[in-house]
Amino acid sequence: MKRIGLAAVCAFGIIALAGLDSGEEVAAEVRTAPVVQEVALVPQDTPVVRQAQEPPPQRSRWWSRNRYPGPIPTPEEWQPPDGPVRIALQVGHWRVEEAPRELSGLRRNGTSWNGTHEREFNLEIARRTGAMLEELGYVVDILPAVVPPDYRAHLFLAIHADASNDRSARGYRVSAPRRDATGRAQDFVDLLHQTYGPATGIRRLQDTTRRMRNYYAFNYRRYEHALHPMTIAAIIETGFLTNAGDRAVIMNQPERVARGIVDAIVAFPITPPPVGALR
Ligand SMILES: [Zn+2]
Repeated sequence: MKRIGLAAVCAFGIIALAGLDSGEEVAAEVRTAPVVQEVALVPQDTPVVRQAQEPPPQRSRWWSRNRYPGPIPTPEEWQPPDGPVRIALQVGHWRVEEAPRELSGLRRNGTSWNGTHEREFNLEIARRTGAMLEELGYVVDILPAVVPPDYRAHLFLAIHADASNDRSARGYRVSAPRRDATGRAQDFVDLLHQTYGPATGIRRLQDTTRRMRNYYAFNYRRYEHALHPMTIAAIIETGFLTNAGDRAVIMNQPERVARGIVDAIVAFPITPPPVGALR
């Protein structure tokens, strides 16, 4: 299979490096991210005096810094949040101007096609998906790129789009977090694989990227503005904006994209349609 170069895909930039443990992987990524000296890498809670007392922490330490207060629950301890079934649809790159310092690298990211940033397509898809879900009785949160600290929902899906210099590159991909404390995200990803392709006609790409698996919103160990570890989460790259076939669906038939997402949510045992809702 043809591999899509890192620089070509929807870029979350250095933010996505947060979950990496391997020094080799970091080094490889740095070459594609010349802005690695971004101040966002400095944890805000680091006391200033520490710099005078200790040598600067090595970058590899930062990847494993755990700023989540308290023990991280296990899949056996997973519980749904209180209240009705709540679905979060995150619009990739939306309202990045609100990014706090810890996520300031977000402001430069994302792909575009013909001058239109992917966030426009992501937003349209999220709104359509949200409207379909609300019709089924779900509570829906449309979230911007910066998620509320410790955000909880029954399910969180980040919506993005890919792009490539190679216009023949096409396909969608879905990923669960690399570290999934709920143990349930892959089940949802498997369902999306069953529903998204038939609904959209967009082919599935087997590979996911590190930037997807290590998506910043998944990384409660590192960022304050991240999901609660009990929030089941996934990320979808809906297709390639730079491919005419994929674009024809994403841009001109977003209802098919929404349908592919909704069908997976309805089929997911943890997020069944609310009882009594109109079908
Ligand atoms: Zn994106």
